[in-house]
Amino acid sequence: MSAEILVLVEHRDGAVLDTTHELLGRARTLAAASGGEAVAVLLGSGAAGLAAGLGAARAIVVDDPGLESFSPSAYQAALVPLVRERQPVIVLISNSGPGMDVAAGLSAALDLPLAAYATDVTMDAQGPLVSSQLYAGKIEAKVRFSGGRGIVTVIAGSFSGDSTAAGGSPAVEVVGAAATDERIRFVGLIRPAAGDVDITRESVLVSVGRGIGEQDNLELVEALAAALGGAVSSSRPIADLGWLPRTRQVGKSGLKVKPKAYLALGISGAPEHLEGMRGAELIIAVNSDPRAPIFSVAHYGAVADLLDVVPALTARLGG
Ligand SMILES: Cc1cc2nc3c(=O)[nH]c(=O)nc-3n(C[C@H](O)[C@H](O)[C@H](O)COP(=O)(O)OP(=O)(O)OC[C@H]3O[C@@H](n4cnc5c(N)ncnc54)[C@H](O)[C@@H]3O)c2cc1C
Repeated sequence: MSAEILVLVEHRDGAVLDTTHELLGRARTLAAASGGEAVAVLLGSGAAGLAAGLGAARAIVVDDPGLESFSPSAYQAALVPLVRERQPVIVLISNSGPGMDVAAGLSAALDLPLAAYATDVTMDAQGPLVSSQLYAGKIEAKVRFSGGRGIVTVIAGSFSGDSTAAGGSPAVEVVGAAATDERIRFVGLIRPAAGDVDITRESVLVSVGRGIGEQDNLELVEALAAALGGAVSSSRPIADLGWLPRTRQVGKSGLKVKPKAYLALGISGAPEHLEGMRGAELIIAVNSDPRAPIFSVAHYGAVADLLDVVPALTARLGG
């Protein structure tokens, strides 16, 4: 059995996404543990130049006009023969929208087990061991693959994004494109409207969830953010309610943020939220439920009512 660790490269607007660097970093560690190789798989049209910056021993490039934009069926058509031929021990894919689309199709087409919502992947004598979040992060499952091989989709921010330790550019192998699958056609990318604040550039985010209770309480959070010199962001329900613009939403279907400090106030810590913020340098959570999953990623936490903590903290900061 090959000990290759395959990583599907995600790229947009001519740049490789941070999440791919995170996966490549872990793939190198896994490859070192198993005596194998970290192999990046780059699908695209005219994107081969991106391969040089990938932290992998080897990069396989499939260059085809049909892969110019993401399409689950075209990606699957390209990946199935590759995975079938190379028989990697693990295929690492980001737990993003496109990643989940591809991974599920690949799993079905190749009859390979899939562990989704992963936060950790290690390798020991029995093969890969995956930590996977179930029921919105309330349960952490340790998963082994029957047959010892499988596909893993990893939540953003689970690994450090350091791609510099790779030791030079990967050996690039260009392979022919599979027949393009036209069942699903890319029509256009709908970008979020520019918001008043770009939360991806803020170094302090005061993020609020359903625990805020009422829209009027947002004033308290705005005051704290002002005292800290930061901005207010939110979990999805707050954006769904229209209490804050969608451009403030952090998470899978919102924005990915990596501020120096992230205050999670009344946010439970569902995997879809963690995906957008677990890469923050410092995470401070306030939640009235001691079992809230947010505490598993927080560096500091207070089991408290945010309506008590927020005004007290603002006053302490002189706000
Ligand atoms: C495909 C998909 C995409 C998604 N994308 C996103 C996304 O991008 N971003 C996102 O955030 N979610 C996303 N979600 C939703 C996600 O699954 C959760 O439902 C959501 O994150 C929960 O938001 P919350 O933590 O604010 O609310 P809840 O889960 O309801 O948590 C509220 C928390 O507040 C606490 N609390 C209550 N009162 C207080 C108080 N007075 N003081 C302190 N704590 C209090 C509670 O203990 C609880 O932990 C997505 C879901 C799906 C299926």
